[in-house]
Amino acid sequence: MKCVILTHRHKQILYDHTRAHYPNESCALLIGNVQNNCYIVNNIHLTQNQDFSTTKFSISSDDLIKCYSFADRKNLEVIGIFHSHPHSPSYPSKTDLKFMELNPISWIIFSHPQNNFKAFLLESVLKEIPIQESY
Ligand SMILES: [Zn+2]
Repeated sequence: MKCVILTHRHKQILYDHTRAHYPNESCALLIGNVQNNCYIVNNIHLTQNQDFSTTKFSISSDDLIKCYSFADRKNLEVIGIFHSHPHSPSYPSKTDLKFMELNPISWIIFSHPQNNFKAFLLESVLKEIPIQESY
């Protein structure tokens, strides 16, 4: 069973980031490692939504390079992509699904109307995976 493990503080950082960018979508990259099939988050790299949009997001290549080289130096990996849905449920949109196919890591979505985080993986089919909070 796959899962995503992050701390209460990580969730707070992501939540604050979504509040700061509301009503636009916000995004971040999650850095960590994979152990026993679970994506364990160690570090959050907050990024700017280049699209400044309420319905889509994109991360600059600069941010991506910074994040991947940071992960490399720490012997970690980019294990997840986070973004928020200011006006819709925490479920991947058609556009998200297209990008999930290109980036087969965990995808975490925060929904403002639902006030919750959900995690997904797109392997052959879309699967919701549990988010566990560690301390
Ligand atoms: Zn989305």
